[in-house]
Amino acid sequence: MRILVISDIHANYTALEAVLNDAGTVDETWCLGDIVGYGPDPNATVELVREIPNLTCILGNHDVAVTGQIPLDVFNGEARRTLEYHEKVLTADNMDYLRSLPSNLMVLGEASIVHGSPRDSVWEYILNTLSARLNFDHFTTPWCFVGHSHLQCMFQLDTQTDRVHLTPIRAGEHVILRPRVILNPGSVGQPRDRDPRAAYAIYDTESYVWEPRRAAYNISEVQKRIREAGLPEKHAIRIAEGW
Ligand code: ZN
Repeated sequence: MRILVISDIHANYTALEAVLNDAGTVDETWCLGDIVGYGPDPNATVELVREIPNLTCILGNHDVAVTGQIPLDVFNGEARRTLEYHEKVLTADNMDYLRSLPSNLMVLGEASIVHGSPRDSVWEYILNTLSARLNFDHFTTPWCFVGHSHLQCMFQLDTQTDRVHLTPIRAGEHVILRPRVILNPGSVGQPRDRDPRAAYAIYDTESYVWEPRRAAYNISEVQKRIREAGLPEKHAIRIAEGW
């Protein structure tokens, strides 16, 4: 099966649309959370996600917050301002859809999927080899796909030496997976690795190939909508610069 793996869409409808077009035909789509937060299009983005066939979707910290399951004041001022806006404009139906989704780690065949980390599904960022190493003890599958950091990367555990290596992987490379790895497809709507193109990955369940990919989209159109909605200027600037 050819699986589209997406994460951290962050209410960026245009970026998600570009990814869905760029990915081509897939058998299933796995979404690792943070559909809302930061961007200008919470309803359109949730609705586009809901239309994706054969979708498995878990919630991220921004989704959990907007549905009232954690207080908004755990976020910094600018992120919170956008979440307050999303809370106000999201339709009851879209809110109910978000509330219906799980936020805990799920096992799908040989992969575990989670937003933050296996030991702290909503909040922990896996940014270095130490946190990756600790998290290898918290899932049992050969690989785990995580989001949250918005960085396209791979942590490989060498089971002989018990050491973890952080491998930067770039769009266009085909990585053949071998046990055990933690992979991040990057962020669709707000990449943070200085490449502003929407990030995602294709996972092949038979050949065990992980293919990180990027899709260009019309960033200035999204910036315009961020400004029209009166959302923080920082969120408009960062999507053009990739941070
Ligand atoms: Zn996020």
